[in-house]
Amino acid sequence: MLSQFSLAGRRALVTGSSRGIGHAIAAAMAGAGAEIIINGRDQEALGAAAEGLAATGASVKALAFDVTSEDSVAEAIGWCESELGPIDILVNNAGMQHRAPLHEFPADAFERVMRTNVTSVFTVGKAVAKGMIGRGHGKIINICSLMSNVSRPSVAPYAASKAAVANLTRGMATDWARHGLNVNGIAPGYFRTELNAALVADAEFNGWIEKRTPMGRWGETSELGGAAVFLASEAASFVNGHILYVDGAFSATV
Ligand code: NDP
Repeated sequence: MLSQFSLAGRRALVTGSSRGIGHAIAAAMAGAGAEIIINGRDQEALGAAAEGLAATGASVKALAFDVTSEDSVAEAIGWCESELGPIDILVNNAGMQHRAPLHEFPADAFERVMRTNVTSVFTVGKAVAKGMIGRGHGKIINICSLMSNVSRPSVAPYAASKAAVANLTRGMATDWARHGLNVNGIAPGYFRTELNAALVADAEFNGWIEKRTPMGRWGETSELGGAAVFLASEAASFVNGHILYVDGAFSATV
């Protein structure tokens, strides 16, 4: 690997990385030489994920906390920095989906989507950025979505939350670039994860994905790893406030 893409000597926290996209990004960063801290709420699932990653040679720690709880976030980040050392890379990946027609969308589900997908990016981002600003260096990657600038039936609150994450990414870059931070987003297309379990099981939807996506298929979560490693590396030193779409040309096509 070219040295400018290396993450050797870096410590990366990836929220929501016990499975799915976060797990694939953590694995890719470990492969590029980073020490990784994986996260989720379910201790057992997190422990199993950490064991699996360690078996591949990754230097990995598991840290369970709920990204929607400001107190838990403060405690977890404080523990990381005092016990492990500085966090050089943060991937705000933890997220959720709730599908329902907007006129039937429960208010508490709307609130949960916003707290999990948007407020957490602010809470975890702010907690980690403080140390990064003090050191004059840090990389933050926020996981946005294809839905950051469009919507689909029954996902309006999710789409709104991801639009907010995209603009929060630009805002973080605007405020923190002067302090040596690079803040970028990755907007994934469609990936077969638990978040999309209902769609993965739907034959009609699978047919639509094949027709609608110019590359004719779902993405593989491993295909997000390279984008994340790039944005976290010195190869992307002047890339800031950018949203990188990884979607098989879905967003390029009407
Ligand atoms: P998954 O449901 O497969 O994984 C979600 C991960 O987040 C799990 O590790 C889960 O662990 C964790 N998590 C959820 N809520 C919290 C919380 N409150 N605190 C801490 N961890 C939490 O989802 P994906 O991998 O599909 O999604 C990851 C990100 O990618 C999300 O932001 C999603 O919006 C985004 N995305 C996904 C796309 C796709 O096609 N799959 C497309 C575009 C964007 P636990 O439940 O144990 O907490």
